[in-house]
Amino acid sequence: MHEFSIMSQLVEKVIEEARKRDAKRVLEIELDVGQLSFLNPEQMRFAYNVLSKGTILENSRLIINIMDAHVRCEVCGFDGKPDYVDDASYHVSTPLFLCPVCGSPVEVLEGKGCIIKRVRLEL
Ligand SMILES: [Zn+2]
Repeated sequence: MHEFSIMSQLVEKVIEEARKRDAKRVLEIELDVGQLSFLNPEQMRFAYNVLSKGTILENSRLIINIMDAHVRCEVCGFDGKPDYVDDASYHVSTPLFLCPVCGSPVEVLEGKGCIIKRVRLEL
């Protein structure tokens, strides 16, 4: 499960940061998740709940922001959101992102990652 390994890295990182700051506990974590990261927010929450049990992250609030993708087309120079269909197969298949202007495959600049935007600690 992709979400589980991502969340496990994330939880480890937050614990490390919280320790550095001598935090009593973590109150809230806010994540920016790229639309093209193929991470399912529900599964992320589930993994987070499991992984945070017994740690200083237990019972903290997890906020997930889904961020729009940003692509660039080398052929016509288009810069913006890609053209793709968000259907049920989206999470299982690997879609090909095409330029909405000329239809060429595009380079994904943003929207693939998952970053920790904000962590609220109780000191
Ligand atoms: Zn194009």
